[in-house]
Amino acid sequence: MTTEPEKIECLIIGSGPAGYTAAIYSARADLKPVMYTGLQMGGQLTTTTEVDNFPGYPNGTKGPELMEDMQRQAERFGTDIRFGIINEVDFSQRPFKAVTDDGKTIQAETVIIATGASARWLGLESEKQYNGHGVSACATCDGFFYRGLDIAVVGGGDTACEEASYLAKLGRKVYMIVRRDELRASKAMQHRVMTASNIEILWNSSTKEILGDGKVVTGALVGNNKTGDLRKIDIQGFFVAIGHQPNTDIFKGQLDLDEMGYIKTVPGSTRTSVEGVFAAGDVQDHVFRQAITAAGTGCMAAIEAERWLATNK
Ligand code: FAD
Ligand code: NAP
Repeated sequence: MTTEPEKIECLIIGSGPAGYTAAIYSARADLKPVMYTGLQMGGQLTTTTEVDNFPGYPNGTKGPELMEDMQRQAERFGTDIRFGIINEVDFSQRPFKAVTDDGKTIQAETVIIATGASARWLGLESEKQYNGHGVSACATCDGFFYRGLDIAVVGGGDTACEEASYLAKLGRKVYMIVRRDELRASKAMQHRVMTASNIEILWNSSTKEILGDGKVVTGALVGNNKTGDLRKIDIQGFFVAIGHQPNTDIFKGQLDLDEMGYIKTVPGSTRTSVEGVFAAGDVQDHVFRQAITAAGTGCMAAIEAERWLATNK
């Protein structure tokens, strides 16, 4: 392997909807983008089956298929897609430096970060077994499949309350499994779940096991942390809402991050604290976290990178 750094115009880190959309736009603008896909080529949507809310698919589509389509579209315009990880970056001077997992150094005039975020999970074996078959971390994505059914939501923060309220409108009954005797959520969100007629909060409670018939979720075994009592609840959907972790470890000390570790961007744009470095998708968005919003900001990042390069070459 050569030790000479490779000089490129535009580096895209990440291959989810934000990364591929940034690739499509930047390749069409002749920035000759090079994309490093990371370990999860195609991003979070490759871990799901049905995607019903991405526009353009009247009958829905499958997550992996949608991401392969995006990949092909990015390749059609000449994106250089490489399976690899960016392990280290140095944004202190231009060109920006990035080091790959096989030790190669890239020097890029502009960088688009689209490394996404990962849902936190409980860590139960049964949670893995039924992921996508009753277990989910996204009510907006999967709630629709549980219309009229009974559902559990784990967590006591704003996200859990928001997910529970959303699911309560679709489902028959929602149990909130909360590990303490109070909610972490804001007062307004607490009020919303506590006054909903079909939400029951199970206080001081932890999920011991998610139960199923081998194919789909049928219930959960919930333990009381104070008394040790066990209770079985019959549910068809199990939503985990205990927070997300943005994939920003390599950007610590390089870019301004918020208190939860998300990359800070200038409102209404994808500009970060370093001129010439842009961030798109879930890595800079803890509010919406949808494929279409990730794709939208990927488009913005490419257009902003192109305009920035035009005046800063
Ligand atoms: P991600 O999709 O998270 O992709 C991040 C990319 O960055 C990955 O390719 C990863 O390999 C790469 N990466 C990370 N670190 C590095 C690194 N150091 N170097 C190189 N690459 C790196 N949204 C919807 O709109 N509709 C749905 O139906 C829906 N269903 C979902 C179902 C599930 C199970 C999950 C988990 C999420 C779902 N979402 C859905 C949310 C949606 O998947 C995300 O909002 C979207 O994928 C975010 O896109 P992104 O491009 O920002 O990042
Ligand atoms: P969060 O505030 O960190 O809350 C996580 C919740 O999950 C907490 O109740 C926590 O319990 C619980 N939890 C963590 N690990 C657990 C485990 N292993 N088992 C069981 N429960 C566990 O995360 P969030 O709710 O995703 O919110 C993140 C940020 O986004 C917050 O700042 C929030 O205010 C904001 N947000 C705002 C809105 C809104 O304003 N509408 C909506 C969503 C998110 P403990 O309380 O016991 O620690």
